[in-house]
Amino acid sequence: MAIDHQRKVVKHAVGNNGASSFTVVGDGGILLGYYVVPDDGEQWLKHAMLEMVQRHGAVLKDDLKTVASQGNLPKVIYVDKMCCGGTEGSRADAVRYFYGMLKKLDVFHLIQRIGKEINCEHPRKGDFLKRLSECIFTLVQEDVDALKLARDSGGYNNLTPKQEKADKLRYVRTKIENPERIVSKILVVVKGQIAIDREAKKQSMMAGDACEDINTAHRAYPLITKKILKCVMQQCIHILNGCVHDEFDMNVLTGQSNYRDTLTALDTYTSQRGSNRVEAWHSVADRKVYAITTMRRSLFDARLLWHVTNYNRQRLRNLGRENVLPDGVAPSEGSRRYRSSFVESTNLLFGFSYYDYVTRTEIEAHLQDTILNAIENDEELELEDIFNDDTVTDEESDYDESEEDGDSDDDDSIFEPVMKSVIPNLVGANELKMLAGTLGEDLDWTAPANPCAAEQPLKDDEVQRKLMQHSNNL
Ligand SMILES: [Zn+2]
Repeated sequence: MAIDHQRKVVKHAVGNNGASSFTVVGDGGILLGYYVVPDDGEQWLKHAMLEMVQRHGAVLKDDLKTVASQGNLPKVIYVDKMCCGGTEGSRADAVRYFYGMLKKLDVFHLIQRIGKEINCEHPRKGDFLKRLSECIFTLVQEDVDALKLARDSGGYNNLTPKQEKADKLRYVRTKIENPERIVSKILVVVKGQIAIDREAKKQSMMAGDACEDINTAHRAYPLITKKILKCVMQQCIHILNGCVHDEFDMNVLTGQSNYRDTLTALDTYTSQRGSNRVEAWHSVADRKVYAITTMRRSLFDARLLWHVTNYNRQRLRNLGRENVLPDGVAPSEGSRRYRSSFVESTNLLFGFSYYDYVTRTEIEAHLQDTILNAIENDEELELEDIFNDDTVTDEESDYDESEEDGDSDDDDSIFEPVMKSVIPNLVGANELKMLAGTLGEDLDWTAPANPCAAEQPLKDDEVQRKLMQHSNNL
């Protein structure tokens, strides 16, 4: 199972107030739920997740974390955020489980977090992200060998990259193992990129460019800046905390196939890790609403429900399920030929209906509290406060790239692409801390700030507060 938040599609509905969608995808890529939630807060997911657990016939213990009986509930859930607190050792038992499933951070999202920080025009960006992914996933050698044998026997030695990729996806299992080894590999890749950045600056200087103003368009603009190093280090903490590696075998044998008509039978596999499934739905949903500027909420729900229905029918067909209603036929129109088994689930809500339900519940609870407090404290009811809730969540923050301009204070004569950091084969929490320092020093030419210092822009209220502090000090 995998869950994910997204803003893009909900934006097309009227009056969304910065709401986002919350999607639940099951094994096999079937969409199990599509909800609109006010923001990324975990409290909004409870109703949907409890219904999900009930639908799978599982029973949770009182803590709502672990199961009393598993039913058909998957063992692992992949999340896009909230895997742990993001600090060393913060993956305590209390956060390891999510509604009866072991919670794991989806690798796609982990890499995307780093990708978001990198200037999108940087020529080495794509290659860097691909390498990071290769650090995390290990191919199962047995499958690699079997595939190679099959290819050799059929004389397939010049497949296109696309074909090779498709083969790998189908015939080669991947594993995510030893966190300390993964972190070591990642830091080696990062160090290599820092070395290339430094070399680029050196080359520019040798060509007569003083490199005084290295902006994003400059050819010596570094791929790894302090901000990106900080983000990578942050993701390494998740990996060391155990948010990413497999704790169960996540590969499922789906059958055998005659490899490209070579008469060599190869086992075929699919992975139960979440990412590409949710992304596949996102891209479909994006395309469906792309041209529509605004929809009323009920129209949004109706359209999206229709798209979800047809999307799931296609997934079912792909899984070889027969008796799937053709697209364009509503369930109520289906003849008995299509044995649809309706599961009674009165708690199931969709889209903005979900939004209305959970926010109403929240307001009611809040109202209740206010009334009780007022009675206790004998105060006047300040009901306006309840409805003047203007805590609208920020848009995805745009990071200011301008701070990353190269620092020209360096003594040019000693600028050499030689780096201090030595990366051991296994990197644990202590080594990671040390390396944050030394890799940071290797980056000192990119920004004058101290290693790993936050370079993210201040939020508006923080700016105000800082200004106030400043004027108070004067
Ligand atoms: Zn984590």
